[in-house]
Parts: sequence; C-alpha cells; structure tokens
Amino acid sequence: MSELALIEQIRREFATARGRHVALGIGDDCAILRPPAGSEIVVTTDFTLEGRHFLRGIHPAESVGHRALARGLSDLAAMGAEPLAAFLSLALPAELVAKTEGRRWVARFFAGLRTLAERSNVPLAGGDTSESPRETAASRGLILADIVLVGATPKGRALRRSGAKPGDLLYVTGQLGGAAAELARMLKHKRPVKAGPAEGHPHLFPEPRLAAGRALLKRGLASACIDLSDGLSTDLAHLCQASGVHAEVEQSLLSIHSLAGRLPAEAALHAALHGGEDYELLFAAPAGVRVPKSIAGVSVARIGRVMPKREGRPLMVLVKPDNRRVALEPAGWEHFSPVSKN
Ligand code: ADP
Ligand code: MG
Repeated sequence: MSELALIEQIRREFATARGRHVALGIGDDCAILRPPAGSEIVVTTDFTLEGRHFLRGIHPAESVGHRALARGLSDLAAMGAEPLAAFLSLALPAELVAKTEGRRWVARFFAGLRTLAERSNVPLAGGDTSESPRETAASRGLILADIVLVGATPKGRALRRSGAKPGDLLYVTGQLGGAAAELARMLKHKRPVKAGPAEGHPHLFPEPRLAAGRALLKRGLASACIDLSDGLSTDLAHLCQASGVHAEVEQSLLSIHSLAGRLPAEAALHAALHGGEDYELLFAAPAGVRVPKSIAGVSVARIGRVMPKREGRPLMVLVKPDNRRVALEPAGWEHFSPVSKN
C-alpha cells in the first residue's frame, strides 16, 4: 500500500467525523478552520512513540489509537476548551503497510482513534504520513505518531495552571491510580487483563474530561486547572509552581480507583499520588465557591488546599490519616523508561 492509498484510507475512515468548525479538511495543502466568534485558539501536541508510550506486543492497537488522541483531548479539557480539529502525523514501519497483519494493526489503531474522535466531536482535519526509518536493513522500524489538537476558548477565559491563590481548595475529578494499577497488571501478565465492568480500563481507554473542563470554565468555578497526565504529585507541583503557591493534600480525601484499591495499601496510595495517565482534572477553586459533588456526570472530590508560599517549607505536604504532615515530592513516573521497562 502506498502513502497515497494510506491517506485515502484515513480520509474514508474519518469522513463521518465532521466538525462545525472545519471549512476544509483532509485533501488540500492546508486545512481551513473557522473558530467560533469571540474565541481564542488553543493548541497542544503529543507524541505517541512505540517503546516509550506503548508496547506493540502488549497494547491492543485500538488502545494505542485511543490514547494517542486522549492525551491531547485531556490537555484541551484542562484549559476548558472545545475541540475544533485534530491533526495526525504518522510514521509506520514498511512491514506494517506491506503485510496483511500489519495493515490490520493500522486499521485497529484508526478504529480506536475514530471511536474517541466521534464521541468527542473532533474531526481529523489533516496530518502527514511517512515510512519510519530503520537504522539498518535488519532492524525494525518503530510506530511513531504525533497528534496536534486545536481547540477554542472564549477570549481571555482559558483555564490556566497559574491562577491558584492561598486559601483556595483543591479538587480532582474521578478516581486516582487506576491507570497505573491496570498498567502494572498488564506488564506483569505481559498482556491486557480483564477488569470488572465498573472498573473500566483507565490505562487502555482513559476518558478525557472535556465536558467537565468546559463546565468549569463556563460556570467560572476554577481559579487554576491542570490535567493529571504525569501523576498527582508531579502535576500538582506544576500547578503550585505556575501559581507561586504551596499546597497541602489530605490522604484520607483521595478517591482511589477500585483497580488500585485491590493493591496493598502502600501501593494503592503510591498509584494514586504518583501513578500517571489518569487524565483526570486537578483544579483549585476559591473557598467561597460551591463546587458540586459531580460535574458533567463525573464525581468531584476535594483533596486539599492551597497554602501561601513560605521559604524553607516544602512545596507540597501530605497530611496522613493520623494528622502527621510529610513532604510530598513530585514522583510521577515515565512508564517505559529504561529503568521501569523490565
Ligand atoms: P503535502 O505534501 O502538501 O503536505 P500530503 O500528501 O502530505 O500533502 O497530504 C495530503 C492531504 O492528506 C493533506 O490534506 C494532509 O493533511 C492529509 N494527510 C496526510 N497524512 C495524513 C494523516 N496521517 N492523517 C490525516 N490526514 C493526513
Ligand atoms: Mg505532507
């Protein structure tokens, strides 16, 4: 199959996902977008690299496509943005395009991507396609994908990491630690493992919180917001640094995902605090703002508070159930870094 045939396949597969804001999609030199009047454009880009973000032998292709898009959608959610269009740059090894089995992988990758794209109302408006290079004729090429997401927010109103003030309360949507727990099980068994229907697949098929992010913006609830891609400890540190504040998290308030809840207590807490890829939203809101128990169908839990910055004090503190206060270090982890891979 040639590059042209592959682009034609992409164009066909994604024809159903049309966007109100795409005046011209796949097929010309550029796409043409028509952002809503009075909006600002927000843009994010995320790599999905074989061996770094997924393992071909363990992750189902549908999940790879889903997660590639979910990462960017989660960034849009964190800004309170409405998605306008997605762009996919894809490098595939020659054998993936030439062989039937490889083509099946590609079709399943697109199916996963398309299902989430349709559900999120984001059309694929363009991209680039290439054969991925090999160092020698004997070595295997890697699957590399980069997704650019373009969204819109009302002018001057995008949620940022930088608005949290001392005295604000901290909240997260959904449950924490599920993605890390599911991934740990997959790596142990070297394949995806069954989860109960209520547990879902927080690692394989995370749900970006687009509606919750937009509701936070529309209702003016949040003073700052970030999505949990690297783990609560790391992402809260980003929010604190951007806002110039310190923070305190109460361990007993953390809502731990049932997949993590099956682990020994220490491991469950570790997954909730430091496990990445939950793609929930972490936000701050002034203490006087009434934050509902659920937003856009997603539960919301208060987990702590924003503190004034004090020289010599830790950026973040974890309040243990017995009220001991310990420093919370940012320790979100890189999944397939050489250390954690084996
Ligand atoms: P050019 O050489 O002008 O960049 P291409 O031949 O690369 O054009 O692409 C032709 C059209 O197909 C463009 O509209 C481009 O956005 C689209 N396209 C190419 N690859 C992809 C892809 N992986 N996903 C979505 N659209 C793609
Ligand atoms: Mg091109």
